[in-house]
Amino acid sequence: VSARPFKRVERRLAGRRVLHTDATASARMARVRRAGTAPELVVRRAASLAGLRYTVSNKDLPGSPDLANRTRRIAVFVHGCYWHHHGGRCVKSTVPKSNRAFWLAKFAWNRARDRATRRALTRMGFTVVVIWECQVADPGRLSRQLARALPG
Ligand SMILES: [Zn+2]
Repeated sequence: VSARPFKRVERRLAGRRVLHTDATASARMARVRRAGTAPELVVRRAASLAGLRYTVSNKDLPGSPDLANRTRRIAVFVHGCYWHHHGGRCVKSTVPKSNRAFWLAKFAWNRARDRATRRALTRMGFTVVVIWECQVADPGRLSRQLARALPG
């Protein structure tokens, strides 16, 4: 899967000034792309509590997991609810009102890429744990969730 078609449409829409990738969206994007964001730090703390040793620079692994333990073959992703489009009842996975079809397609593509990443890691023998941004609020619950998800 390639992001190119979306980049092209995004540029075209931006040129016609109909795509509002300004303030809100790009601020969100910047927050998501910056390493060591608040949810990520909370998950790191919870992982340590759950007894998981990890590295945070994992660009050699598919999807660059936020936390990884190569010996135990564990990959943890901390997904922002907006860009990874959590869906369901998550209040953070909103869709912009303008260019709705474009954003729905883009979020669908993001999710397809996440699935492909999980599959690739699973094929490599990794256990993949996905923690959603909106689930990070309760550290106690989070470390129990991690402890359950991690293979002995
Ligand atoms: Zn969510």
